[in-house]
Amino acid sequence: MTPATNPQLIVVGAGAAGMYTALRATRAGARVTLVSATPLAGASSYWAQGGLAAAMSAQDSPQQHLDDTLAAGRGAVRRSAAQVLAQEAPNAVEDLAALGVSFDADRHGRLALGLEGGHRTRRVVHAGGAATGRRIIRQLSAKVAEEPLIEVWEDRRVVALLRRDERCIGVRTLDGAVLTAPATVISTGGAAALWARTTNPAGATGSGLLLAHHAGASLADLEMMQFHPTAVAGGNGADGFLVTEAVRGEGARLLDSRGERFVDELAPRDEVARAVLREMKASGRPSVGLDMREIDPALFPNVVSALRQAGLDPEHELIPVAPAAHYMMGGIAVDLDARANLAGLFAVGECACTGLHGANRLASNSLSECFVFGARAARAALADAAPAPAPPSAAELAQNAAEKPPPLTHESRESLGRLAGLERDREGLAQLLADPHPLIRLIAASALAREESRGAHLRTDFPELDPALDGHHVVAPAGAPARLELWD
Ligand SMILES: Cc1cc2nc3c(=O)[nH]c(=O)nc-3n(C[C@H](O)[C@H](O)[C@H](O)COP(=O)(O)OP(=O)(O)OC[C@H]3O[C@@H](n4cnc5c(N)ncnc54)[C@H](O)[C@@H]3O)c2cc1C
Repeated sequence: MTPATNPQLIVVGAGAAGMYTALRATRAGARVTLVSATPLAGASSYWAQGGLAAAMSAQDSPQQHLDDTLAAGRGAVRRSAAQVLAQEAPNAVEDLAALGVSFDADRHGRLALGLEGGHRTRRVVHAGGAATGRRIIRQLSAKVAEEPLIEVWEDRRVVALLRRDERCIGVRTLDGAVLTAPATVISTGGAAALWARTTNPAGATGSGLLLAHHAGASLADLEMMQFHPTAVAGGNGADGFLVTEAVRGEGARLLDSRGERFVDELAPRDEVARAVLREMKASGRPSVGLDMREIDPALFPNVVSALRQAGLDPEHELIPVAPAAHYMMGGIAVDLDARANLAGLFAVGECACTGLHGANRLASNSLSECFVFGARAARAALADAAPAPAPPSAAELAQNAAEKPPPLTHESRESLGRLAGLERDREGLAQLLADPHPLIRLIAASALAREESRGAHLRTDFPELDPALDGHHVVAPAGAPARLELWD
């Protein structure tokens, strides 16, 4: 299938980042083709619970949001990116509301703001209690469907980026379709489903990272996988189901095997996840208890109903929880306008790495990132526009052949979880360098390059944070070994 008119912009991935980027581009009159491999529930965005972080209250400010983001990120946040996020997130919330997303309000009609770990104040805008992702995705997809400038290619997987003269000129899909455009935005989501135990949908395996790397773009911060401390452990088919941090913001507590608290539940995520792991090791049990018994179930209807379906009763019993791979802080290395280091290629959302999250993402900064940097990506992609590329010749198509990633096996996922989990060391990471999956090898090489412990990256053989590495990011260029770089 080839479209009647080639688009001015190709967007790969229809989660929050992809759909919002496409919609923003149409405001400038651009024709967009949006390609998505899965239906809506296959996007992590659909499952987002807590909400999006933005300084919306009179007691808050972008400066305070920035300060909390810097503190959570453990000295590795790229300040300029975090500044952009903190300053532009309130506009993104207002724009989503104008697009018809109905955020929860208090009885005075003001935005109801949730509290999550690492935030000094209530700052998390939500919808439908903890159904924020679902509500946003439904509204954005309705807008996309009624937008005549957007052509949607559903159930189509991109398997290669096309390159000509050091520039990305389009994509090729699994069924052999070729689509060219002056600019391509990758918004294919994260990679947490590479790990055996995860909160993410099965498709979150970083396919866009490999596409970009294969085409010549650099990746960064791949060693930084954030583990969420409260994913259901066991639970009748619900293993890995996330219980949003917002329940801890409302007073839920984490309890050890004697029923005692062992951590500040609202500390940043890396700290809480590590404390949970320590407690599990000390008790020899596979989980700790999340006590939600005092929480009003009406505040989190979808969480409570999912737990009940899994045979757990949050009103009367402790919920068994343990850390699970949740959020890829690394991704395709981009500038503040989402440009990768290959002309014509942009990345936005969880697949991108602006450096904003450093070594530990502040809760609910990721949805805000999708919108703030989605708007920037749309603007920059159209502003940088080169002339429409001519269709690739047969010889070019042969040169741009897709690199078929080997199927992701249970063994690879299990090894990654065991050898590059919350704790890792040189010996285990070195074993992963021989894994058949290319992204797992890149993750291992990145984790080996960072010889210190910082945020989500805990090396038992280098247990201390090395202050000389503040502000440094591990960059994995195409065709060269991973190395540390200082980003301003
Ligand atoms: C359970 C859960 C709860 C969360 N809660 C929150 C929260 O409260 N607040 C917050 O800020 N963040 C939260 N997050 C993280 C946040 O949801 C994600 O970081 C964000 O939604 C990612 O959006 P995205 O658009 O980048 O990617 P996704 O929403 O994952 O979308 C990726 C899209 O790319 C498509 N795709 C992938 N590969 C290809 C390919 N090769 N070709 C074509 N299409 C492809 C997929 O089909 C999908 O449509 C949560 C995540 C999970 C899993």
